[in-house]
Amino acid sequence: MSAAPAAAAVRAAEGKPDLAHSGIRIDGVTVAYDRNIVLDSLDLTVEPGEVMALLGPSGSGKTTALRAVAGFVRPVAGRVFLGDRDVTDLPPHRRGIGMVVQQYALFPHMRVDENVAFGLRARKAPKARIPEQVAEALEMTGMAGYARRYPRELSGGQQQRVAIARALAIRPGVLLLDEPLSALDARLRSGMLAELARLHRELPDVSILHVTHDQVEALTLADRIAVMDQARLRDCGTPQELYRRPRTEFTASFVGNANLLPVTVTDEGVDLAGRTLRMPTGEAAAGAGATLCIRPHLIGLGDGPNALRGEVVEIQWQGATHRLHVDIGGHRLKADLRELKQPPAIGDTVTLHFAAQDAVLLGSGVGDG
Ligand code: ADP
Repeated sequence: MSAAPAAAAVRAAEGKPDLAHSGIRIDGVTVAYDRNIVLDSLDLTVEPGEVMALLGPSGSGKTTALRAVAGFVRPVAGRVFLGDRDVTDLPPHRRGIGMVVQQYALFPHMRVDENVAFGLRARKAPKARIPEQVAEALEMTGMAGYARRYPRELSGGQQQRVAIARALAIRPGVLLLDEPLSALDARLRSGMLAELARLHRELPDVSILHVTHDQVEALTLADRIAVMDQARLRDCGTPQELYRRPRTEFTASFVGNANLLPVTVTDEGVDLAGRTLRMPTGEAAAGAGATLCIRPHLIGLGDGPNALRGEVVEIQWQGATHRLHVDIGGHRLKADLRELKQPPAIGDTVTLHFAAQDAVLLGSGVGDG
């Protein structure tokens, strides 16, 4: 590993200690490379002490947004505020931000304690206090027993903990995490997920912006999730809001599993392939096209309100549930059914139903999608 990214990550952690309780405000930030806009007018506020996940597919602009907050890329438009302070023109090392990047970026030739102390030394913290702050950061990340090891003597998960300890050692008001778990294997990742959740609870004053493409990570850790796609913010809300009431098709499909079915608004509800489903349609005019969003686990087997008959085209056993794929007039409906004693067979005709309040109508004036 070269020392350059390590130096950059640590430089971001230097800066003033007076930014606790600050919160982040990203105000109309646009970033372009060679006239190619990769972040388009981003408006986003992270409240003091809040954990905000930036969730989206690869290339959607998440890391660029993080780097704009850290000061590693310069926006062509917009401003970044930490608390009331406009930091847009400040270099990274003067923003008082702790940052953890994907590949840990530890100095290979320094021991763990020296890596963690580096940011403190660079910002000329009082010498007498450095050991105490290093010990505290290592304690918080469960690495107290590893202070004298070198990075090569640590597992990937342990190296990541050291990187987090280094970011925390300066007691930052703002912590930026860029896909902190993506380099770990699945088993380590779930352990670190619990570890990060604990850290978040122990840092109630630190505002955290956490970049991830993993919805489980975002749903587990974040107070709110900002959903990004193609350089733009598509949706923002609590995990529950985004899951239960997504405002866009993109959010519905990216946060949790969703059936998205094309329907036509009628006077009574909506029409799905010739079947009438009774549900509120808000302001939508009869005849308008829309998309019906219904989560697979909210669909029941058998008769009920909004019953739909169709042919089973596929069955997947998923442990706790069976996932049935049912053809409804040419559209495929996925239903996750629990405790099916006698699952139907492929080719059987079944009746499925769902409650109107569990469905969300998107598009064509019925939502913002
Ligand atoms: P994400 O973090 O969501 O995966 P990024 O913010 O890293 O996305 O990238 C957004 C877009 O910007 C991508 O298309 C990427 O190729 C492009 N990009 C990122 N950094 C640079 C760079 N230094 N020069 C040119 N293009 C870049």
